[in-house]
Amino acid sequence: MVNLTVMGAGPVPTADYLDRLARTLSKKPTSRGWDCPLCQHKNNPVDNLLVKLPAFKCSNPDIDCPGKCPATPEWSINECVVNGVRCDFVIRDQGPYPTCTAQALLHGMDAKLKVHGALYGKILLQQLNGSDLLAKYCEKVKSALGEEVDPAVRNARTPCLLQIAQSDGVEYIAPDGSLATGRKLRISSWFYLKTDEINLLIRLIASGFPLLTSMTTGRCFTMTNEGEIYMSPQLTPNHAIVLIGFWVRPIWLPGEDGSTKLVEKVLFKARDSKGDRAHISGQQSGTGGDIYLLAEDLPKYAFGFHLEPPSWMQ
Ligand SMILES: [Zn+2]
Repeated sequence: MVNLTVMGAGPVPTADYLDRLARTLSKKPTSRGWDCPLCQHKNNPVDNLLVKLPAFKCSNPDIDCPGKCPATPEWSINECVVNGVRCDFVIRDQGPYPTCTAQALLHGMDAKLKVHGALYGKILLQQLNGSDLLAKYCEKVKSALGEEVDPAVRNARTPCLLQIAQSDGVEYIAPDGSLATGRKLRISSWFYLKTDEINLLIRLIASGFPLLTSMTTGRCFTMTNEGEIYMSPQLTPNHAIVLIGFWVRPIWLPGEDGSTKLVEKVLFKARDSKGDRAHISGQQSGTGGDIYLLAEDLPKYAFGFHLEPPSWMQ
């Protein structure tokens, strides 16, 4: 792992910051609190920018209570509605090119821009130009994305792309027949955190921070339908995705003794970049680009970022 601190990572948003951010939007989906079945402690919902969620684990300050929320909350950025604007965003297709890290960042910027617009009550449809980001990467690294020879460069693709989006920005696609305006979207800063901080990962996503990370994919990956769980083979992560939602629910898993057990699990919803037919969905008549993965299948780190608000939008 490259030393990310020296490469310009900023601080992870604090609980105080996320609390303040949450108070900037009052009308949002709200979960009810719950009374712990073990200790009767009343667990109030946690306020985030886009959704008030139940505390997943009992928050009794007097004892370390193992009580868990009896509900099965499910939420994602692409399905949330803010000020009447749906925050869905395009499913990108990397085609046969090994550009998943760039697609994950573009998906993240698409999502954050959509949320940012929705907070102002605006529907933003103009898309970012992926070729612009890939060209800037190639110029900086002197190699096409996915074709780097130096392992140190390969391992630093995501921070490198984040730096480019911060210093140079990513241009928008100019509509057909119009002159390119050169207008760009930039990120103002970025951070990374360990993925074992599951409550914080959930809070960040619920606060409108898509999280860039990777997963291991095998041959059955594209047979995973929209909304299904993909159980990663135990290999080195080989595919970049962006986490955009979560689902806490009981699922049947094989135990050590070979029998299956119903276990309460945290799943993360990931937007893939293999086009809108890769993970087909009955609900959406054949289209879909999202899958679910288990929290324990995440690699060690995830990356988030703050967007520089586009001046023309305010
Ligand atoms: Zn309790």
